[in-house]
Amino acid sequence: MPLSSCLHRAIRIAAIVALSVCLASCVRFALRTPAKPLSPEQQQAELARVKADLQARQMRIEVLEQQIAALRKQLVQERDRRIVLEIQRKVEELRGLRAKQPLEMSYLTDAILNRLIDREIRDRGEAFGGWELFLKHFGLVPAEMNVEGFLRALYSEQVAGLYDDETKKLYLSEKFDITKTFSKMFLAHEICHALQDQHFNLTSSPIRLKNNDDRALAAAAVAEGDGMMLMTQYMAEERSWRILLELPALAMMDQKMLSSAPSFFSQSLLFPYLYGNEFMMKCMEKWGSRGRNRPFQPFPASTEQILHPEKYIGPDVDRPTEIDLARALSRRLIPRANRYENVGGEFGIRCMLADRLSQREAERAAAGWDGDALVFGGRLDGPYALAWLSVWDGENDAEEFAEALKRFFQRQRKALKTSEESGSTFWMSDKQGEIALVRDGERVACVHADTRERAERVLHATLGVKVQRVP
Ligand SMILES: [Zn+2]
Repeated sequence: MPLSSCLHRAIRIAAIVALSVCLASCVRFALRTPAKPLSPEQQQAELARVKADLQARQMRIEVLEQQIAALRKQLVQERDRRIVLEIQRKVEELRGLRAKQPLEMSYLTDAILNRLIDREIRDRGEAFGGWELFLKHFGLVPAEMNVEGFLRALYSEQVAGLYDDETKKLYLSEKFDITKTFSKMFLAHEICHALQDQHFNLTSSPIRLKNNDDRALAAAAVAEGDGMMLMTQYMAEERSWRILLELPALAMMDQKMLSSAPSFFSQSLLFPYLYGNEFMMKCMEKWGSRGRNRPFQPFPASTEQILHPEKYIGPDVDRPTEIDLARALSRRLIPRANRYENVGGEFGIRCMLADRLSQREAERAAAGWDGDALVFGGRLDGPYALAWLSVWDGENDAEEFAEALKRFFQRQRKALKTSEESGSTFWMSDKQGEIALVRDGERVACVHADTRERAERVLHATLGVKVQRVP
C-alpha cells in the first residue's frame, strides 16, 4: 500500500479515536451523576475531580491533534517529493541530462533564506562595502540607501524555490502551492540548475567570481538562459489550460522591491534571464542540440559575448583584454578602507550610462568595449579614490565612450565645473571631489578622488599600466 494511503488511514483512525474519547467521557459523566443531593464538601470534591478529568482529556485531545498535524505534514511532504520527482524526470528528458545523484529537497523557511543571503554577503567580505560606496560615488544608488537591507528584501520577494549549488539542495518555498502549474514551471527551472551543477560544476564556475562581475554575469546568463529555455519547453509539453486560470495570481505576484530598485540593480538582475535566453538560442542555431552544453565549457568570458553572440560562437570571436590595474595601484595611492576591485564590462557600462543618457546613446557608447578594470578605496565622507581604466576596439570607440562618460557626469552632478581641458584630458570638480578623464589612444582612464593631488597621483599610476590587447 502506498505510504500516502497509510497516512490517510492513520489520520482517519486518529480522528475516530479522538471522537470516541469525548463520547465515552460524556456517557461516563452522565452515569456517575448521583441520585441523592450531595453535601457542599462532596460537591466541591466532585467538581475538582470532574475538572481534573476534563483537563486530562483536554491534554489527550491536544496530543492527538498534534499527532494528526504531524501526519498531515508528513503527507504533504510526501506529496511534494512525488511532484518534484515527476518534474525532475520530465526536466531530465527535456534537457537531455540525467541526474548523477539524487536531488535532495528541503523547505525554504525565512531563517534558511536569511542564512543563504548572509553567506552571499559574507563571501564578498570587505568588497561589499566597497561596492556600495562605489555605486554611491557614481550616483547609481542614492547616498542614503541601505543597500544590504534592500538586497535582503529583494531576494526574499517571491522566491518559489531555489537550487543552492553550495549545499546541493533544492529548496521549496513554504509559501508556494506546489500543485499550481506556475510553481511547477519555476521548479522545473531550478531543477535544471541542479542538473547543470551535477554536469558542469557551477560551484567552481565564473558565476562565483567576486572581483569580475562582467564575467560572472556572462556565466550566469548561460545558466539562466538555459533555465528559461527549459521553462518554455516545460510549458509547451504540459499544454495545461490551468495556467490560464493561474495567470491573474501570477500577475498579482509581489514585485514591489524589484520595481522600486534603482535601474542599475534591476537591469543587472534581469540581464541573465533576458539576454541569456537569446544567447542560448544562437548557440543552438549554430551547434544544434549540442550547442546547449557548449557555453558551459568554457563559459563566455564577458557580457560583450552575450550581447553579441558572434563574439563567442564566431566568426568574430573576441575575448576581452585583461587589465591588471590593482597591482599598479598600491594601498598608498588608494585609501585602504573598503577596497573594491572589479570589471564593468559592456553591459555594466551600458547600464551605468543609461542611468543618465538615452538607451541608444548608452548602447552606442558601450559598444566596442574590449576590457576594463576598476579599483576603489575609501569612504563616502572622507578620503577616497577610484581608478578606472578601459580599452576599446579602436580610437573612435574610445573617443565615443569618453565623450559619453563626460556627458554622464555632467548630467549627474549638476554643479560639476570643467576646471581644465587640454586635448583629450578633462578635469572636472565640485564639492564631492575631482574627476579626471583622459583618452589616450584606445584607452580611457577615469579617476575620482577627494583631492586634486590624490587624483593626479592615481591618474599617473593608472596611465602607466601597460595594456596588452588580445588579438
Ligand atoms: Zn535560475
